[in-house]
Amino acid sequence: MRKVTIAKGDGIGPEIMEAVLKIIKKSNAPIDFEEIEIGEKVYLGGNTSGISEASWEVIRKNKVLLKAPITTPQGGGYKSLNVTMRKALGLFANIRPCVSLHPFVATNFPNLDVVIVRENEEDLYAGIEHQQTDEVVQCLKLISRPGCEKIIRYAFEYAQNYGRKKVTCFSKDNIMKQTDGLFHQVFKEIAMEYPNIEANHMIIDIGTAYLADHPEKFDVIVTSNLYGDIISDVAAQIAGSVGLAGSVNIGNECSMFEAIHGSAPDIAGQNIANPSGLLQAAIAMLYHLGYAAEATKIQNAWLKTLEEGIHTADIYNDKLSKQLVGTSEFADAVIANFEKVPSIL
Ligand code: ATP
Ligand code: MG
Repeated sequence: MRKVTIAKGDGIGPEIMEAVLKIIKKSNAPIDFEEIEIGEKVYLGGNTSGISEASWEVIRKNKVLLKAPITTPQGGGYKSLNVTMRKALGLFANIRPCVSLHPFVATNFPNLDVVIVRENEEDLYAGIEHQQTDEVVQCLKLISRPGCEKIIRYAFEYAQNYGRKKVTCFSKDNIMKQTDGLFHQVFKEIAMEYPNIEANHMIIDIGTAYLADHPEKFDVIVTSNLYGDIISDVAAQIAGSVGLAGSVNIGNECSMFEAIHGSAPDIAGQNIANPSGLLQAAIAMLYHLGYAAEATKIQNAWLKTLEEGIHTADIYNDKLSKQLVGTSEFADAVIANFEKVPSIL
């Protein structure tokens, strides 16, 4: 039995977590879940960090965290707990695979299959801001050579281990010559160590435009924190829905698995959210823990469910979908498919 920390989060978090836990439990993966409460409720209860010391201890003890989305207030309010957790736990790499499930899920891009490797601790995303004068505010963009080396090496190692052919670096070093310039420079240096993997660089703006129009031209993309956040929403959405993609946050000691999307308060509490993003994260977690058979069984049952046209509202399509289901019914359909699919790779 392996102990895993779970946090049910805010908005649609509890519903999608419930669906995912039901699927994992039914797969018989030998996991014990230890729940912590983080996010909005903790914040409103008076702890302005959104997380208690006791919860930090549980996360550090179990080392693996499956986390549903938590609400980050726009503009004012408390500092993003997502950002705090990634930084405090040293989760330097955020891996976000986005793949089209053509012809079973509607997409204009049937050949999309990209993995975004996003730097997770530095850049403007560190949220280091201050007010200079009454009318001027400032945000610090921090990029370090060790930070670039870690994430770029991770991207090439990932490409090598998963049989990917190309790594594309996105930066804006024509404008930010020092910060993005360093990222690009380190990319060029590390690329030379991997002669079997094609390496190229694009300026982020035109790169994103191509990604939105010709995603099949991309394989692995490595980029800094803020750009990675934006382009992974683009890639997941053009694959079909932001509700489909999961992500893995990797550090030297701990790892955190989560959906790429946020807490979607507009659809919370209605049993209509797609639990697939969190499920994809949970499947990656099972592989990470060495439970490959259970992970493969769930993945295949999930694919079969989508192939059968059993779809949540976000991916429902008049031509392709057969049955519109809610969050919990989708989970039941995945479980019902366990017996119909192989649990080997
Ligand atoms: P964050 O800053 O936390 O990433 P965001 O502003 O990017 O949040 P999300 O919470 O990701 O916003 O949601 C954007 C929209 O996408 C939601 O309003 C919702 O309609 C849709 N959405 C997000 N996740 C899902 C899901 N799992 N299933 C269905 N629709 C979703
Ligand atoms: Mg978002």
